[in-house]
Amino acid sequence: MNPLAPINRLAAVFSKLPGVGKRSGLRMALRVARDPGGLVPDLVAALREVQEQVGACSRCGYLTVRDQDPCALCEDPGRDDTLLCVVEDPQDIILIEESGSFRGRYHALLGKLSPRKGEGLAKPRLEALFRRVGEGKVREVILALNTDVESDATAAYIHERLTESGVRVTRLAFGIPAGSAIAYSDSVTLARALQGRQVV
Ligand SMILES: [Zn+2]
Repeated sequence: MNPLAPINRLAAVFSKLPGVGKRSGLRMALRVARDPGGLVPDLVAALREVQEQVGACSRCGYLTVRDQDPCALCEDPGRDDTLLCVVEDPQDIILIEESGSFRGRYHALLGKLSPRKGEGLAKPRLEALFRRVGEGKVREVILALNTDVESDATAAYIHERLTESGVRVTRLAFGIPAGSAIAYSDSVTLARALQGRQVV
């Protein structure tokens, strides 16, 4: 068997990860192949643990361990039920939590609407959002979305659907349109964007 074939297959798997191109994928695969000891078992064990133990919270979409659903953030009695922060990606929740500037609840859309394709991947999570708001506790929906065309379409759709509800809809105020605004913001910028949020 050509030894490059399994390495290329592993490299192709690594290349599917965010931020890993073809060349880095190959370097990672070669590093695994030259394992001086310990790396491969650690990698296998860590992958298995993530696969078996980590899942998504059925309520907010954030990461949780399999036997805790809803997650710790949803169950925390010290958080404000009247504020609901809507993000595109669970990763954004980590960043907002790190900024320490928000004590409400979260709802991850796990995607966004695509104006070109009509409907995007976020539709079931959007319906879950409207059901949560319909439960009556939420007074303000804070849209912590990015600043591209699809995020704007998602924000407009949420605003339209919530107009009748009487719930205040606000959006984070970023100075400069930056695309992936949340992921590229530091804690201070995020805290400012939260404080300066504007009514949609
Ligand atoms: Zn949750």
